[in-house]
Amino acid sequence: MSAVDELRATTADPPLPDWDALVEELEFLSDSDAPTCAARSTEAILLARARNDDDAEMRLCYYAAVAHHHLAHDAAALEAASRTEAIARERGELVWHSRALACQGLVRHELGDLEDAVDLLIRALEVRREAGDAQGSAEILHSLGTVYTGMVQFGPQAAQSLTDARRLWLAADDPDRASMALTSLARTYVVTSARLVEDNPQGARTAARHALGIARQAVEEADAAGLSRTGIDARLAVVGALMIAGDLPAAGRVLDTTRAMLERFPTSRQQLVLHRVRSGWLVRLGRHDEAVLELCDGLDLAEELDRPAERLELLRTLVEAHEGRGDVVGALRTLHEVHDLTVRRSDAVAERRAVLLSSRMEVERAERAAEAARRRTAELEQRNARLSHEASHDALTGLANRRALDVALTAWTTDHTGPFAVALVDIDHFKAVNDDFSHQVGDQVLTRLGALLSEAVRANDLAARYGGEEFALLLDGVEGPSAWAACDRIRAVVNACDWEDLVPGYGLAVSIGVTAAAAGHDVADLLRRADTALYAAKGRGRNQVVLAPPAEVCAPADGRADTTGLAVP
Ligand code: GH3
Ligand code: MG
Ligand code: MG
Repeated sequence: MSAVDELRATTADPPLPDWDALVEELEFLSDSDAPTCAARSTEAILLARARNDDDAEMRLCYYAAVAHHHLAHDAAALEAASRTEAIARERGELVWHSRALACQGLVRHELGDLEDAVDLLIRALEVRREAGDAQGSAEILHSLGTVYTGMVQFGPQAAQSLTDARRLWLAADDPDRASMALTSLARTYVVTSARLVEDNPQGARTAARHALGIARQAVEEADAAGLSRTGIDARLAVVGALMIAGDLPAAGRVLDTTRAMLERFPTSRQQLVLHRVRSGWLVRLGRHDEAVLELCDGLDLAEELDRPAERLELLRTLVEAHEGRGDVVGALRTLHEVHDLTVRRSDAVAERRAVLLSSRMEVERAERAAEAARRRTAELEQRNARLSHEASHDALTGLANRRALDVALTAWTTDHTGPFAVALVDIDHFKAVNDDFSHQVGDQVLTRLGALLSEAVRANDLAARYGGEEFALLLDGVEGPSAWAACDRIRAVVNACDWEDLVPGYGLAVSIGVTAAAAGHDVADLLRRADTALYAAKGRGRNQVVLAPPAEVCAPADGRADTTGLAVP
């Protein structure tokens, strides 16, 4: 069962993975076993997302990106790295932000987008410097130097980046990496001088001398530190420089040492470079038959390691070797291979870019669709909320409307716990307000009274507009006398309110009829009883509250009965 299935299957809280241990393992796997790293990180990312654990997702996505990059899954690598970048940016995690940028830079480099690669690596460097991480900065400078080395005209920048990387590593007391940077620097000078050979032989020799000096220093450093791999790289750079300088015997001696070292510490990558360099050396010496054998071994290895760029270089040297042997047919056949491979490579790069582009368009399309759906849902929710508010509220006063009152009354009479009261509030002589001050002023009075009522009642009560200039109140937890007292307090509030700005010289008052209620009572009966009480209040001179007698008892114990059967405490 996968980790995600496990999460789904368990209803109780499943144990949290140990993210730190997992991330550490992924870091190791990203170098040694990219497919496993990609699979495990993808699964763990889902888990982290299900947990809303941004920090874990950020780190997991980074190693997913590195693994996908090693597997040449460009789109997946860029997507995962962008995710790390976004989370890291939001969380202010400078180191992860920088790592994510650098990873994107390396993918771009792989795709041949050198300018983008340089741009991303420079941004990564800035962020890493801001984080105060010297070793990390050195790492990025080294990558940047390597990218520059592959760019014609950027030799000086390559040398500068690699020199800076070396300086930082020396300062951080990391001699191993410092000598690796020196070896890369030597390689840069070899590449630069090789580029100059045709047009500027003098400049090429000067650069080669320079390269030789640096490469020899790199050899010394690597040997002193006992770094066999760096030592082999440095020697290969020495051979390159010697060949450009034309010292083939010396190059041969270094090649022999390098071959012996490689036998003791074999790595396929370096073996491949050795085949390439040694076959070139053999061709230069006119030992074409040996060169062909060396090249065939190299081509087999390049095929096995899936390194088309190296294959191409070996094939080009093979053309020279066949020509040297006078094997015109062999040379022509190899030339065809060179041509085929060149076309296939540019097709492959074009295809990778096309895949990347279409997956990016896909993502953008999906994002746009999701955004539109989000907007539609939000609009719909807003509309629904507005409609349901309109359906249950009075437009003028904003109070619950008659329909909402009916719903509430039905609910309260169905299952309300404890006593409550139903009151009807009617403005006294309201017609005169309309007549004397205008209908608009009348509306303003109604609005202000609505606000007064909703403020005057308690949180569990309900104030509603019953219709016209009549309001209804549901008062929770009050019985006969306390219901009357609550209503009289509200009446007094209305009376005491300053209405001068709206209706100067006109003291506004309300009459209220109220009846005690409880679950099981009939809604229509309650309203009728409150209305009768209200009518009585009007009859008794207005600006007062009348409590309806209890349903079963005509004369309430706490009030005096009168001819209307209504009580005044
Ligand atoms: P009483 O003290 O007996 O209640 O007298 P009254 O004038 O308040 O009662 P009457 O029923 O005679 O008049 C009610 C008035 O309320 C008449 C009607 O035009 C007015 N009215 C009802 N609804 C509204 C409204 O929404 N806005 C305004 N401005 N007036 C309204
Ligand atoms: Mg009325
Ligand atoms: Mg009235």
